[in-house]
Amino acid sequence: MNAVDEQLAQRAPEVGVEFDAVVVGAGFGGMYMLHCLRQNGFTARVYEAGGGVGGTWYWNRYPGARCDVESMQYSYSFSEELDQEWSWSEKYSPQPDILEYANHVADRFELRQDIRFDTRVTTATFDETTNRWSVETDQGDQVSAKFCIMAVGCLSAANMPPFDGFDDFEGPIYHTGEWPHEEVDFTGKRVAVIGTGSSGIQSIPIIAEQADAVTVFQRTPNYAVPAWNSKMDPEYERKVKADYPAMRAKARARPTGIFFPFNITPALEASEAEREAQYQEFWDRGGLPFLGAYGDLLFEEEANETAAEFARRKIRAVVDDPEVADLLCPDNIFGCKRLCVDTGYYETYNLPHVKLVDVAKNPIERITQKGVVTGGTEYEADIIVCATGFAAMTGSFDKIRITGRDGLDLTKKWEAGPRTYLGLSTVGFPNFFMITGPGSPSVLANMIQSIEQHADWMVDCMSHMRETGAETIEPTLEEEDAWVEHVNEVAAISLRSTCSSWYVGANIPGRPRVFMPYIGGFPIYVNKCNEVMDNGYEGFLFEGAKATNAPPKVRNTDRWHVELDMDVLSPAMVAEKKVPII
Ligand code: FAD
Ligand code: NAP
Repeated sequence: MNAVDEQLAQRAPEVGVEFDAVVVGAGFGGMYMLHCLRQNGFTARVYEAGGGVGGTWYWNRYPGARCDVESMQYSYSFSEELDQEWSWSEKYSPQPDILEYANHVADRFELRQDIRFDTRVTTATFDETTNRWSVETDQGDQVSAKFCIMAVGCLSAANMPPFDGFDDFEGPIYHTGEWPHEEVDFTGKRVAVIGTGSSGIQSIPIIAEQADAVTVFQRTPNYAVPAWNSKMDPEYERKVKADYPAMRAKARARPTGIFFPFNITPALEASEAEREAQYQEFWDRGGLPFLGAYGDLLFEEEANETAAEFARRKIRAVVDDPEVADLLCPDNIFGCKRLCVDTGYYETYNLPHVKLVDVAKNPIERITQKGVVTGGTEYEADIIVCATGFAAMTGSFDKIRITGRDGLDLTKKWEAGPRTYLGLSTVGFPNFFMITGPGSPSVLANMIQSIEQHADWMVDCMSHMRETGAETIEPTLEEEDAWVEHVNEVAAISLRSTCSSWYVGANIPGRPRVFMPYIGGFPIYVNKCNEVMDNGYEGFLFEGAKATNAPPKVRNTDRWHVELDMDVLSPAMVAEKKVPII
């Protein structure tokens, strides 16, 4: 029996236990939610399908996995002590360091005692007679809670395409998002990698360092900007830590919740030479901030094409074989799919043992005993790596049977796309909250900031309900419809909504095509949440003897009062809702 099984065998299922809140998931979202609940005097049980904390960083252990938002910003902001005591190893820290940080937070704030690991929530059912949620797990737990809080993650349901013949393959098949805990040794192996999104682009160069042969199956080429990653500069760390709150505040005022140099002037107003210099400067800075070279890149196709062509020239300059370079050059909108951040990705295709196979026209037909078949050719491999992404935003909700009022099933309600009020809650599901749910900035912002703002808002609302004796909270249909319409309206203004990305569910056949996150900008969204709260939870209905729509007295949310940073926006951009977001 291994350690995990032993722990499970020792744990008796909890039956009939009552909590104020059940939280599903112990990534950064569930961990901070638990901390907030306890700080505010609520009892909570967290269930986590994985064997430890960290969510994304627990599961995505593939070679090369690291953050693409600078570590000094991709970290919790709620504790000044935590900010001061923790040191990041690199500008963009690797997965093991981020997981270590998550474990440090769990220990420091003594979170583990309220988390049940290796436990998957299977059903959550609202009981209208008691106004409580009944929650069941695959370990036999049956508990109830006034609040059910989903911290299940936006990128946590791995997408394994249903290729015929997976079971026939003689070697191991790994998904980047469910990577084994033991090191995978590629030495002397022939490796097939399917997928060239961020996970593929991060892992392929490292796999190629070890393997005898690598065959990459590419359906759509992606744009990648070099990370220029480095060891953490101690002087930079010292400077940030000297006034960390100021850096956090500056970041929150940005549409992305991330602070970096941003130029709002339009690309087409610059001369070709000016543009070239500007793009080069932003390329030299590297990473996602490249999209900050001009303010109109995600709104005007002609402007976007100038950045796209610059990036294509960079690919052609690196890749020796012009045919391979052509295959690697995307012809879609620059930054429409999530922009990738790479280290040595394109250079990898100059290695003699790395081969690129285009599966755009000839989709993968099947997996055989010996490898992958496309266009009638079998490409032999010893190991298959699926870097094929996630059923984004709603995938982990779909795996739980969630039943609200009148037997309403959440998956059914969201059949044509998710519908929420502010990405926080959804009609028909009282006392049901979602951390970074669809309809909130979530994946379009620094996610840890998004998580903290949501958890603070939720716990203030719960405290208000406790204070006023409210039994339930639920949005009105009118406000939910209006928010969904606004989310769609803003998405339509951006070029982001135009391509087949996971933002719109297009990476997986059969999913409805709806732009799921809110693209209107982090501070605009935060201020809307604050306004709703200050106006006594406008758009929400409370039930209960003394329930009242009034602002809360407990206000963890106060730290989220932000002004839009007008250095990176013009009044016209705000009026036209053209808020550039990476
Ligand atoms: P997750 O970390 O996904 O955690 C959700 C947890 O819920 C998981 O552990 C899962 O096991 C658990 N769970 C789900 N369903 C159930 C169930 N039914 N029962 C029990 N447990 C369940 N964002 C950024 O802002 N910057 C980055 O640089 C960045 N890099 C990323 C790199 C990768 C490889 C990936 C995949 C994502 C990245 N993201 C990044 C997004 C990242 O997901 C978030 O930043 C953040 O970690 C999400 O935290 P979370 O707690 O909301 O969700
Ligand atoms: P992804 O961006 O969805 O990429 C998946 C890749 O698999 C795409 O190239 C896709 O092609 C391909 N694919 C899917 N199904 C296929 C099929 N049936 N046949 C052939 N190819 C197929 O997923 P991801 O790379 O895991 O990244 C998801 C998100 O996680 C990122 O956008 C980012 O937000 C986050 N992430 C961040 C980092 C980081 O740098 N910090 C790293 C990894 C992930 P199509 O494009 O044609 O669909």
